[in-house]
Formats: sequence, structure tokens, C-alpha cells
Amino acid sequence: MHQILAVEDEPDIRRILRALLEGDQYRFIEAETAERGEIEARSHKPDLLLVDLGLPDGNGIDLIRRIRTWSPVPIIVLSARTMEEQKIAALDAGADDYVTKPFSTPELLARVRAALRRHVRGAEQTPLLRMGAVQIDLARRESRGPQGELHLTPLEYRVLESLARHTGLIVRQAQLIREVWGPERLGDTGSLRVCMKNLRAKVEPDPRRPRYLVTEAGLGYRLRAD
Ligand code: CA
Repeated sequence: MHQILAVEDEPDIRRILRALLEGDQYRFIEAETAERGEIEARSHKPDLLLVDLGLPDGNGIDLIRRIRTWSPVPIIVLSARTMEEQKIAALDAGADDYVTKPFSTPELLARVRAALRRHVRGAEQTPLLRMGAVQIDLARRESRGPQGELHLTPLEYRVLESLARHTGLIVRQAQLIREVWGPERLGDTGSLRVCMKNLRAKVEPDPRRPRYLVTEAGLGYRLRAD
């Protein structure tokens, strides 16, 4: 049974989270402050953390940064704040994903499952990606769509590989560029955009409304494979 620690100062939200997660067979621990959160994290060693960014004794981002110095535990940010820089700072501090309050129940549970899966799998890659009628074998670099063989370029495979290492989670634009094009091309978001557009044309049933290669505005991309 997975154990989840929520660091959240609003009692109503903690109550909702408890009902939701215990109902889905998780063990639930809670903390109201950043300080308490770190103590609980150290003593219980939870399998996943949900961290609110606005805590009474400080910023959730500092808590994430502190936890990252000693633990790779998956962290999902839970925040009412919609400010882009807060999300970016949280992801840069080491959070794996974020959910904006008010969150939808299935969305939160799906993110929790994705973060736990990713952690279990570790650095191991998913060799076979399924996106609807499209099947991509990353190891063999072979792809098939409803019309037969699909031709993807080496760059497109590398972008998919980077995304597949974090299936279901956000991959920052900068991280994708660093992994695929190299650190010297960090500012080159244009190449990434073009590559993503071409990939969508090949794998998405409706490239204008992506279902599998999802844009997270201002942050990066998320792969939703079946
Ligand atoms: Ca709060």
C-alpha cells in the first residue's frame, strides 16, 4: 500500500484529499506547515508528496528544494496559484508535476498514479509506446500507424524518448532541448516547436487538438500514452 503525505494548510483540502486517497487505497498522512511536512517526510518516508505552495511558515518551493537534497520521492505540487513562474520554480526545485486547485478527482488520481509509476520504473525506459492506433517501438525505432509504417526522424525519436521517460508528467521545454539538441541550443525553442508540430502531424488523430503530445502552456510538454 502506497503512503502519501500531503503538506497543505487548508483543512478542507486535506479532508478532501484524505477521503479521495484513502478511498483509492492509499495511506494518507498530513502536515499543515512546511516544517511539519519535512519532519513527517523524514519519519514516514512516504512514497509520494503532495505539496501546497503557499504554506503558513514559508514557501512550498523551499520545502521541495530541502527534500530534494536527501530524497528522490515523487512530488506533486498542489497550488491555487496560476502564476507561471511559481509552477516553473516548483518544477525547477525538483517537483515532478503540479495540479491546480480546484482539481478534478480523476485528474489528481491519474497524476498520482503516473508519478508513482515513474518512480518505480526509475530510469528504465518504456520501449513500446501506444498512442491510439499508433505504435512506436523506441528501442527498434520502428513505428506503425493505421496506414502502415510511419517514418519518424532520429530527432523525433529522441524527443519521444525524452517524453517517454516521464510518461504522464510534464517535461520542461529546456529539459527536452538539453536532452535532444544539447545544452548549447537551450534558447532554441523554435526547433522544438517545429519538431513537435511534425510529430503531431504523424501520430495525432487530430494534430490541432493533441491528445497524446500535450502542450503545457509556458512550461513544456506531457506525453499521454495508452
Ligand atoms: Ca495554502
